[in-house]
Amino acid sequence: MATKISLVQGDITDQHVDAIVNAANSSLLGGGGVDGAIHRRGGPEILEACRKLRASHYGWGLPVGKAVATPAGRLGVRWVIHTVGPLWSASEDRSAQLASCYSESLRVADELGAESVAFPAVSTGVYGWPMDDGARIALETVQAADTAVADVRFVLFDDTAYAAFDRLL
Ligand code: ADP
Repeated sequence: MATKISLVQGDITDQHVDAIVNAANSSLLGGGGVDGAIHRRGGPEILEACRKLRASHYGWGLPVGKAVATPAGRLGVRWVIHTVGPLWSASEDRSAQLASCYSESLRVADELGAESVAFPAVSTGVYGWPMDDGARIALETVQAADTAVADVRFVLFDDTAYAAFDRLL
């Protein structure tokens, strides 16, 4: 099925979709940026679910490039899909790990039966990934994905991020 890809400038916690993707860190226990916004607005149910995941499947944390879903608390969406982006490195090519964040999130979305998914620009904040390259990897990976998700929305926080995605789409 063809996946429709769209771009929105704004805050990922304002999106009305089946699932929003969190640019989490391996601990799953919260952080800044998207992660902070999701936990602040979603309330304690999300953190509680993350703690349970840490106590069961992911004792050492969620590995980079993987994704896992929790309920979404008060966010008004059905699920949060947490994925851990790689830190940018000038000496090591970690593009495959970043691509994996998008493909694994879509795989989890398919398992859940989510039809619409909103992504942030994973790794392009605190993790330092250059926006143009992060946008290219995000779009190429979603365009190539074999997924039943009908609607993928990239939610870009500022003008620069929006422009980077818009140039490529
Ligand atoms: P990472 O640690 O993976 O880099 P960040 O959350 O620091 O994750 O940033 C990822 C991207 O999300 C950055 O481009 C940042 O500007 C953007 N961002 C931050 N807050 C939000 C938000 N509430 N909604 C959408 N995008 C956001």
